Amino acid sequence: KTYAVWFRSDFRFEDNTALYHAIETAKHDDGKWIAFFHLDPIFTSSIDLHHDYFFRTLEDFRKRCVERGIHLHIIYGKLEEALHQLRQAFPDLKAVFYNRDEAGDAHSRDKQAESWMEDNGVELFSYEDAHIHGPQEVKKKDGTLYKVFTPYFRAWGRQEKPTSYKLDKDALRSYYQMTDSIDHEGENYFEKSILSRCLHDWQAIGEGAALERLESFADTRLNYYKENRDFPKTAGTSRLSPFLKTGVLSPRLVYRTAVTRLETGGAGAETFIQELAWRDFYYMIHAHFPESKNKELTEKYQSMEWETNEERLDMWKKGKTGFPIVDAGMRQLNELGWMHNRLRMVTASFLTKDYMLDWRLGERYFQGKLIDYDASSNIGGWQWAASVGTDAVPYFRVFNPTTQGKRFDPDGSFIRKYVAELAKVPDQFIHEPAKMTGDLKEETKSESYPEPTVDHGLQRKKVIAKFKMI
Ligand code: FAD
Repeated sequence: KTYAVWFRSDFRFEDNTALYHAIETAKHDDGKWIAFFHLDPIFTSSIDLHHDYFFRTLEDFRKRCVERGIHLHIIYGKLEEALHQLRQAFPDLKAVFYNRDEAGDAHSRDKQAESWMEDNGVELFSYEDAHIHGPQEVKKKDGTLYKVFTPYFRAWGRQEKPTSYKLDKDALRSYYQMTDSIDHEGENYFEKSILSRCLHDWQAIGEGAALERLESFADTRLNYYKENRDFPKTAGTSRLSPFLKTGVLSPRLVYRTAVTRLETGGAGAETFIQELAWRDFYYMIHAHFPESKNKELTEKYQSMEWETNEERLDMWKKGKTGFPIVDAGMRQLNELGWMHNRLRMVTASFLTKDYMLDWRLGERYFQGKLIDYDASSNIGGWQWAASVGTDAVPYFRVFNPTTQGKRFDPDGSFIRKYVAELAKVPDQFIHEPAKMTGDLKEETKSESYPEPTVDHGLQRKKVIAKFKMI
């Protein structure tokens, strides 16, 4: 009997629910396990930054598999064809194990897979693995959904936490069935055509890097997380998001690591755990409202008429709005494929409130750029910032980009790092370079930096009026 583990966005050995159960089943049922990844042509036409990071992570995982004597089969093609190919290669295929996705496009793929298994007499075991609590687990007493985070978080906190799974390293090897590649062409295509289009040399990738980062964060920064997390220049946050997204790190391990620090770390660990719950919250919302990628969750705002202005959208994307903290954030995103949370809030607020452009345009831009792109968190974050989501910032609270800069990058060192034109501007003017007079402007060589492209005070009034009308 063959038990197949279908890896998707869970490229790790430690505490991987589907992998653990497949090996245990093979062990107790006199079977063998194999591993595969399905490469769908829809993901290979254009390689965005997050695809680049994803495929590199997959490559790293393949190497880790080889080190353990395992071949991760890559099967290329449409889902049903790929599953048929799997079945042909392993006629005694008894069951497929995977960690499920309950939100977004991946959910439709899971549904399709489910019906294929049913039609073809293959058993299916799927698990909640990528989150601490799945979309069905935290509900009100009457069974309805929480749409506001604070009561959700209280209930989330009361819920018993899932166990972690310790991998049986001997069984991993001894119950594994070694076979030659089942799709030579697909693997060749991945190696030759896909990886050659992944142009970035990521420094931190895969399970090893993730475990190291978790440990160093917990040892040195977690205790100070509450005080430091809002300041982009300090490495105050964990930067674990790309690892959680690619599933090289177990969220349960992250949670438990934080819990063990609660006694000594206090508020830092407490605040950090709350952020993990935000991740679950947005996943739950997205799973129950699959249309939220395109539709405002607050119904009355679905009729909102956003402005269209290609030029402004372009200035925002390039970090040329004339507001230093906004531009620094956008340039950090363009350069690293990651942006600090405070700046995600500031730049999203700027696009939707100061430029009054459609939040969907921003959501799509982040999708193409973020290596931690996660549809649920991104949609949640954008709808929050645009004040159109279930638990959004009230529309009359509009972020002032200059004040945000002064509060969260007081000496402007983060701005100077990313906005080269402002590198020589003195502290006094770093948040409002337009206030410099002629000579100083020339001396600092900041002429090439744009003047503010909108009047924030005026735009604030306009956008509030627009929301009020609805
Ligand atoms: P930490 O502060 O160290 O937090 C630890 C973990 O908690 C993060 O890795 C993340 O998994 C989770 N987390 C933290 N804050 C949030 C939050 N507000 N919502 C959901 N989960 C959270 N996060 C993504 O992972 N992918 C996205 O595509 C994404 N898009 C966003 C778009 C906007 C407009 C906004 C405002 C936020 C977005 N976030 C997104 C949430 C948050 O900005 C990132 O998770 C965080 O910046 C990642 O950095 P970190 O790992 O250092 O976070």
